[in-house]
Amino acid sequence: MREPIDQAKWDETLNVIKGMITDVSYRTWISPLKPLEKDDEQGTFSLACTESFKANLIRQRYLTEIENAVASVFDRKYRVIISHKSDEEIKNIREKKTILKPTPEDSFREEYYLNPRYTFDNFIVGSNNNYAHAISLAVAESPADTYNPLFIYGGSGLGKTHLMHAIGNFILQKYPSKKVLYVSSEMFTTELIAALNDPTNRNSKLNSFKEKYRTVDVLLIDDIQFIEGKDATQLEFFHTFNTLYNQQKQIVISSDRQPSKLTLLDDRLRSRFQSDILADIQPPDFETRVAILRHKAEEEGQNLDDDFLQVIDLIAEKVKFNVREMESALTRVISFSAVDKDKPKITVAFAKSKLTDIFDSRDSTITCETIKTAVCKKYGIKLADMDSKKRNREYARPRQIAMYLCREMTDLSLPQIGQSFGGKDHTTVLHACNKVAEEMKTSSFFAEEVHSIQESLQ
Ligand code: ADP
Ligand code: MG
Repeated sequence: MREPIDQAKWDETLNVIKGMITDVSYRTWISPLKPLEKDDEQGTFSLACTESFKANLIRQRYLTEIENAVASVFDRKYRVIISHKSDEEIKNIREKKTILKPTPEDSFREEYYLNPRYTFDNFIVGSNNNYAHAISLAVAESPADTYNPLFIYGGSGLGKTHLMHAIGNFILQKYPSKKVLYVSSEMFTTELIAALNDPTNRNSKLNSFKEKYRTVDVLLIDDIQFIEGKDATQLEFFHTFNTLYNQQKQIVISSDRQPSKLTLLDDRLRSRFQSDILADIQPPDFETRVAILRHKAEEEGQNLDDDFLQVIDLIAEKVKFNVREMESALTRVISFSAVDKDKPKITVAFAKSKLTDIFDSRDSTITCETIKTAVCKKYGIKLADMDSKKRNREYARPRQIAMYLCREMTDLSLPQIGQSFGGKDHTTVLHACNKVAEEMKTSSFFAEEVHSIQESLQ
């Protein structure tokens, strides 16, 4: 639902941003921004700027800061959209006299620029992503050579978009004359539909759409799962794909699922992906999570004293499956301290008091019971089977998965977990956890299955 952005909360957001950048940058770029509206369903947060060159520059330089500040004040992550609008247009949108429609020009700049912040240099490599990282780098070093198309898949917030921009940025640096185009599947769809629905200029619009996508050297298309079920878009994408592929242009696709789990058009498209290079990204392990947070804190100029390192450990302990959420928790702690006039020291106690969403709701809502229920639902067994001693695989396996998830997602000890599975011994729990962890390492299919339960719980 679209609704105007509350001015008081926007003022609060401005304050947070103020703490992140220099005064002069703040006054020049940020304070002139006007809040338009937000859309909780679409996850968008629209701001306007009356000068078009500023809108451009703000997008390129400050989008991440703005998004982080918005996340900390509005308590969720939005995609911030900055458009160029006149004072009158702003007023009309705020008063709901006109509906905010992104112009193609706006969206072109919003969606297609490569974010210079996402590079290989600041991508932390761990066992969860080293394959995806290596293949992405290989593609960037020599596009359309060995790995084409490249298909990157993994859960939300695990670095797919980061890697795609890193590939694009690297290619542009090494081969400045190459035409690199990054596009979200959502924007690809929006643009296609805009062309199809234009009764007067349909043909010319469709031609320029085709021209744009079929003449690039590198096409990076993000979140392809978005075009599932959208027949016209899938068909167009299929043709784009074939044209580029036949001309030996590089294509990089990302998705939240592996291709075999996508219902994309007909099998022609899917079979193309299956034989090609698949790179999965799993949730990072604890060490990698800490490394990512430390790197991020250093980038923000934080002094990594003991207290701060403990805060990093704490966040890495708590937020396990989504780097974006993890980073947003860190940024929120930093901003809260920065906006407070007393500039309180960032300690574990301070972080806990600010990140109540993580420390309260997570702890109280995810229990052995909720985990068991979710696992039972997934495998179609009864809750009683979890506590039983039945050893058939159809019961033992879900039980082991549930035990593993309790270990991962709650603070309970092994004996406590054993207790809530009908009084089992802690060695049984340990054995289950190890077994599941091992199998997740060797089978990405299984790993994904477990992660999907995890995600359903969060
Ligand atoms: P996805 O596209 O998979 O949902 P993103 O690429 O948007 O995820 O990543 C979410 C956030 O986490 C980004 O700010 C990104 O920079 C960061 N991130 C994810 N993985 C890493 C990593 N390995 N090293 C550094 N930052 C990372
Ligand atoms: Mg993404």
